Amino acid sequence: MKIKKIVILGGGFAGIRAAQDLAEKSIAAGLKIEIIVVDKESTHLFRADLFEVATAFNKKITDKCMFQLKETIATPIRKLLFGRARFIQDEVMGIDAKERVVHLKDSGELKYNYLIVAMGSETNYFNIPGLRENSMPMKVLQDGLKFNCHLDQFFMELSRKKISRTVNIVIGGGGATGVEMAAELIGALKKLCVKYHYDCKKVNVELIEGTEKLLGMNEAGTALVLARLKKIGVKVSLQNLIQKVDRKELTLKSVNSTSAGGRGKLKKKFYDILVWTGGVMVNPVVAASLGEKKYGGAILVNPFLQSYKDRNVFAGGDNAYFADPENPGKRLQMLASIAVQEGSVLAENVFCFIQGEEMKSFVPANVQMVIPIGGKYAIWQSGDRIFSGVWIWVIRRLVYLKYALSILPFWAALKKWLRSSRIFMDND
Ligand SMILES: Cc1cc2nc3c(=O)[nH]c(=O)nc-3n(C[C@H](O)[C@H](O)[C@H](O)COP(=O)(O)OP(=O)(O)OC[C@H]3O[C@@H](n4cnc5c(N)ncnc54)[C@H](O)[C@@H]3O)c2cc1C
Repeated sequence: MKIKKIVILGGGFAGIRAAQDLAEKSIAAGLKIEIIVVDKESTHLFRADLFEVATAFNKKITDKCMFQLKETIATPIRKLLFGRARFIQDEVMGIDAKERVVHLKDSGELKYNYLIVAMGSETNYFNIPGLRENSMPMKVLQDGLKFNCHLDQFFMELSRKKISRTVNIVIGGGGATGVEMAAELIGALKKLCVKYHYDCKKVNVELIEGTEKLLGMNEAGTALVLARLKKIGVKVSLQNLIQKVDRKELTLKSVNSTSAGGRGKLKKKFYDILVWTGGVMVNPVVAASLGEKKYGGAILVNPFLQSYKDRNVFAGGDNAYFADPENPGKRLQMLASIAVQEGSVLAENVFCFIQGEEMKSFVPANVQMVIPIGGKYAIWQSGDRIFSGVWIWVIRRLVYLKYALSILPFWAALKKWLRSSRIFMDND
């Protein structure tokens, strides 16, 4: 019998979980299959701590410290496959489900019998003029490292030229990444200002959000986050949409009718550095091949995470449109915790499908939001209840340890977590 080939596109949260579980299951059952993971990057990323990489303090920017910073949240994909699956580092350019072929940028065609699609999402700039060209995204490892170096060089230049003026750092988007970035920047800036003898009082950090909510929370939750941000020194502008971005100048449109000037009023804002965290969209390769426009480019899947259109195609994480049982008409949130749960079920169902056994329906577990907001402080929303403080921050740090232990051997996971904690806590 010909060995079945299972290709997993994406070595992210869903892809790695699926690859590890599938390899384990097939070995235990003596099932001969070939598992191939494809990713354009060589490393798997714990994206939830990307803001920490972006804001970590370096006494000196060196290759060594950038490497150490990279290692805090990135792990070689090959290392995570333990020789049980093949890894191809290449970019997926297209998927031809009819021919059961994936088109790779450098390696050409890759045939499959079964496909797991988990290529995540990309930054969405919503066609806002000038936003892509003038802002820094916060999505992949390079974004975090680039921001870190850029911030250091920015203050080094001011110090070298003996310039002392007001500096405006603007973060667009009041979701988790925006709030975490803005808050953590405060600690980083304090250290940078000492390093470059800059007056920290002259540095503003402003978070701009289009709606009246932060982190998508209700009024009480938003008020708590606002109070915390204010306390540590982050200015927040809610109900302001970024309309246009020029070099060093933003045009904002107020969507609050009670604000001075009223709804629709335009205002200009000078910025030195703009970070855009305000939008995500399903990976364009997926959207153009197997996804559907009405599902935001994602693949509509049945309860087994299997494409309705092609039974040999499965999808997980940000690429799967799985109806949210709690929110009719909406998909499950694009979250790492969901992607990991789906990865497990994907492995189980692909394994059962090959064997002709009954598959398992995916039942999402309750999603918990634990968001660090500067220093040793985090908030945790569980249903209608919100908890905050240093203990929640400890829980948030343990989330990474738990995740690392789920993909790496014990000592490797512990070492990685201890190293990252030491680096990240330096400016807390
Ligand atoms: C900055 C940031 C912070 C976040 N924080 C949290 C958090 O705290 N908690 C939480 O639950 N969720 C968080 N999320 C969301 C979470 O990261 C995503 O929902 C999750 O990563 C989705 O998992 P996935 O497996 O679908 O994709 P990913 O984990 O994104 O993996 C996709 C993989 O596909 C690869 N890939 C993409 N395109 C191609 C291509 N063309 N060819 C080959 N390979 C490709 C990528 O390199 C990547 O390795 C955050 C997201 C971001 C951007």
